[in-house]
Amino acid sequence: MKTFRSQLPNHFSLPRRINRLAELSYNLWWTWNYDAQRLFIRIDRSLWERVYHNPILFLRQVERARLNAVTNNRVFLEFYDRIMRSFDQYMQREDTWFRRNYADLSEQTIAYFSMEYGLHEIFRIYAGGLGVLSGDHVKEASDLGLPFVAVGFFYSEGYFNQRITEDGWQEATYTRNSLEDLPILPVMDELGKPLMISVELPGRILAARIWEIRVGRVPLYLLDTNVPENSLADRNLTARLYSSDLDVRISQEILLGIGGQRALRALGYTPSAYHMNEGHSAFLVLERIRELMEEDGLNFKEASDTVRTSNIFTTHTPVPAGNDEFALWLVDKYFSHIWERLGLTREQFIDLARHTVNWGDAFSMPVLALRFSQYRNAVSELHGRVSRKMWHFLWPDRKEDDVPITHITNGVHTDTWLARRMSYLYDRYLGADWRDHIEDEELWEQVENIPDEQLWAVRRHLKRKLAYYIRERARQRWRLGGIHPVQTLASGVLLDPYALTIGFARRFAPYKRANLVLKNLPRLLELVNRPGMPVQIIFAGKSHPDHEGGKLLIQEVYRTVKRSETAGRLVFLEEYDMNLARYIIQGVDVWMNTPRRPNEASGTSGQKAALNGVLNFSVLDGWWREGYNGMNGWAIGEDVDYTDSLQQDEADANSLLDTLEKEIVPLYYQDGASDGLPTEWIARIKNSIRTLAPQFSMRRMVLEYFREMYLPIMRQAEDTRIVK
Ligand SMILES: *Cc1c(COP(=O)(O)O)cnc(C)c1O
Repeated sequence: MKTFRSQLPNHFSLPRRINRLAELSYNLWWTWNYDAQRLFIRIDRSLWERVYHNPILFLRQVERARLNAVTNNRVFLEFYDRIMRSFDQYMQREDTWFRRNYADLSEQTIAYFSMEYGLHEIFRIYAGGLGVLSGDHVKEASDLGLPFVAVGFFYSEGYFNQRITEDGWQEATYTRNSLEDLPILPVMDELGKPLMISVELPGRILAARIWEIRVGRVPLYLLDTNVPENSLADRNLTARLYSSDLDVRISQEILLGIGGQRALRALGYTPSAYHMNEGHSAFLVLERIRELMEEDGLNFKEASDTVRTSNIFTTHTPVPAGNDEFALWLVDKYFSHIWERLGLTREQFIDLARHTVNWGDAFSMPVLALRFSQYRNAVSELHGRVSRKMWHFLWPDRKEDDVPITHITNGVHTDTWLARRMSYLYDRYLGADWRDHIEDEELWEQVENIPDEQLWAVRRHLKRKLAYYIRERARQRWRLGGIHPVQTLASGVLLDPYALTIGFARRFAPYKRANLVLKNLPRLLELVNRPGMPVQIIFAGKSHPDHEGGKLLIQEVYRTVKRSETAGRLVFLEEYDMNLARYIIQGVDVWMNTPRRPNEASGTSGQKAALNGVLNFSVLDGWWREGYNGMNGWAIGEDVDYTDSLQQDEADANSLLDTLEKEIVPLYYQDGASDGLPTEWIARIKNSIRTLAPQFSMRRMVLEYFREMYLPIMRQAEDTRIVK
């Protein structure tokens, strides 16, 4: 078992009999364990909702009388003891998958770097899919028992809160993430002072302290520059994600890559493998080379060869413009002290990551990472192809197909995204230990044994739950005041919990084409309002606060949603986050995704939906191109490449409405869905779960990373006893 570096605080006054609730709160294991959450719910359900599922706030605010009552309740105490036992078993388990197979490697460490982590709604340190992927990856590493440590940022403000004005304009507000209100722990040194690291920035030293989040068995260390040693501006350096200010961006990335490695050293780690999730952390490469040169006396060539053998880089960006790169004046400003220490000239240094783009030469983070990694991968098969083409210039002697970038398709952490009622069906029909074999495709064939009535009853329950939740949110929002009544209608109060419901929720990046379904509005409105077979669409998502294009898209959708001809069946929900995501991906009937191919590197929200018996209706891009089999959902458009994006949009929009009108709506209402059982629809659901749940699980994904990348690096470290 990993030892954590922080001490548990003792600041709650809980009755002795249940005082381990504090310890439970400080380990995010509860976020993917419903029964653990139900402990809080049983104490005070309404408070649990009011504190937005934050156990620290909960324990601080819960009334003593409630705690005393449950302490005298035998049924509750038995439940409490059972949960604490399973928590202890999870944490102390010696027979994890990793231990059973690779006990000889348990002294080694895999270090994972990411700019954002989507762990739970209370930690606003993620913006979207990349973060959720990192969060899910860490949880799965814990489930498998991998010797894993993760590094990221504690953002004091995090991603913004979204409000939509009456005219559909997105407004961003920021709230401070208050450390003492979160299950996050300070890391201290031997003297009981905060453990600090620092990096060099132009004309100053930037200090950062380290926080720990316990994610099951895995520690996640977060850097935070909000310390008295720093200037006011530097204290805010880690306040927000993805700033548009280039100085902030490069400083953050210096802190993540260089500071992150220093943090691991300060914590006593000597990782064998380093996994860079996207290019933001690529400066890590420079720090590792510097270490080997200054501390072990290697020359630049030897040091970089050594570093390369243990690096892994995962790219997520299929468009050149989406990649992280810095103009050379910034590189001069921030790195002129470094190239000398690495024994390089300016030109040699820039050549490490040179990327000639339309505005000139840039220092490209993905190029740096690609050049200095042993293993490089894209996140779906098509994205692999696109990446090999995009980065071909780095391997000019090879044929495009032989560019050494492979792919490992993304997946989702099953227990994080699976609805409780669905999990009961799986417990019953897949066998009690199905969680030990999530990646096993044969196991999932037993989904066919779930009786149609039971599966449909759960699906209907989840949709009702979504509708009630949306209505409750609208009520709270209306009560707060400051919004126009039509905005309340637009936020879903008129939803019919029995009508065919389509979900579309994701970041509003233009390539995701949230407005594709609106391209032929009269035809859509006719479909939406068809007597006896209505269709509802739920939209949600944020645009980057500095991105006009994304905000205009939200406005276009919002203005449409507000029109009376939609009859309240088109809905836009503010403030998309992991909590709202859970409700929507579990509650709708159909999950729609309309990226402009091939821009969706993978996508994961459709995988979450599939796990819960929701059918995918998507462009054959990213993961869905691999998942779709003709019977487990529907395709939008063809498996082809376009050169003209206007033509592509038009073809896809037509395909979308055709399939919706001629196939999806009739199939759903075939047997009178509101009372009878839509047997063909249910057959598709079973096909979808059976074929998609194992293949697009985080279990399958992390096992692939392990077998193809982590394990060979660990074996080689074992052989050569390289400790750096
Ligand atoms: C899963 C998830 C995403 C990623 O969704 P895609 O449609 O795959 O891009 C983004 N945001 C949240 C809150 C999520 O839960």
